[in-house]
Amino acid sequence: MEPFDPDSSRRTIATLDVALGCIAILGLAWIPFFCWSVSLEKSWARAAGERTAAAPSASTEAAHRELVTPEQEQAGALVWVSPGPSAARGELDEVFLDEIDDALGSCLPDDDHREGATIRLVADEKGAEDGSRDTHILAVEYRPPVGEPSRFYEFVGHELQGYFDATGTQACSTGWRSPLANLRRTSPFNPRRMHPILRRPMPHQGTDFGAPKGTPVYASYRGTISFVGPHGAHGNWVAIVHPDGTETGYAHLSKFAQGLEVGDQVRAHQLIGYVGSTGRSTGPHLHFSARAKGTYFDAETLLTPPATAVPEAERHVFLKVKAELDQRLDAAPRPAH
Ligand SMILES: [Zn+2]
Repeated sequence: MEPFDPDSSRRTIATLDVALGCIAILGLAWIPFFCWSVSLEKSWARAAGERTAAAPSASTEAAHRELVTPEQEQAGALVWVSPGPSAARGELDEVFLDEIDDALGSCLPDDDHREGATIRLVADEKGAEDGSRDTHILAVEYRPPVGEPSRFYEFVGHELQGYFDATGTQACSTGWRSPLANLRRTSPFNPRRMHPILRRPMPHQGTDFGAPKGTPVYASYRGTISFVGPHGAHGNWVAIVHPDGTETGYAHLSKFAQGLEVGDQVRAHQLIGYVGSTGRSTGPHLHFSARAKGTYFDAETLLTPPATAVPEAERHVFLKVKAELDQRLDAAPRPAH
């Protein structure tokens, strides 16, 4: 695997292609929809004249994702070549990945566990008069390197709407991701906790997760860094303000991700720091908190959506939508590797 070259990444060409061939194959005039493809062509990969579909990388900083284009452009196939947060990515790629995370969040493995996985997707796209475009994911197939693929379908019912698995269950958190690869809760959010020594109410305004010092800590959702640095009892603290106004906090860190600064945009699951025991802490753990309009709430609720199923009365409609989307996913080319 060639080392990551940020300059090379800056030369990344992002192109969007409406795959007319795909439409021809399906032979249907489903006018509002287009099969589409996102093509990220790394100049180094071109120079090498090869596509390393599933080559492992030693460095998570060397992250990039590459659309598989064996000979011709293909619709909706993306392979994770080297997962992890990426410092340099095409604008289109950013939007695309955020959309996948927003749609499926917790139903897909973490970025750094997607090595060699492929995603096929069907999306529609609307262009605006100002030349901007609005893409919208309708169905996704996630195919791990080993094991069975999973498919997810958008369904808009009377009571529920969102992305459902093949059984009609809505089980994905929408974009929120775990701040640690493994969550081992040692102390829950508790606004009425009695302090064990002081014997007075001392709310626990976050959730503690035990983890060894140095364990990577990730942004739970995309947003803007609002604080990085020492913050009283929080020790080394990172806070992120997310698009809906929620602010998440990550306390007691041993160190911060290199170069992280207030105002930085981060995406879901981007590395922000490492577990530690700074501030008021008795051992290495992550104190993960969330607040909205200044009031702390249980941050764990962001990560665990209730599993809900399509109501029985609408099941036949769901199955019809699913069948149509399955056909379109089947028609999307697979990466050749
Ligand atoms: Zn805590």
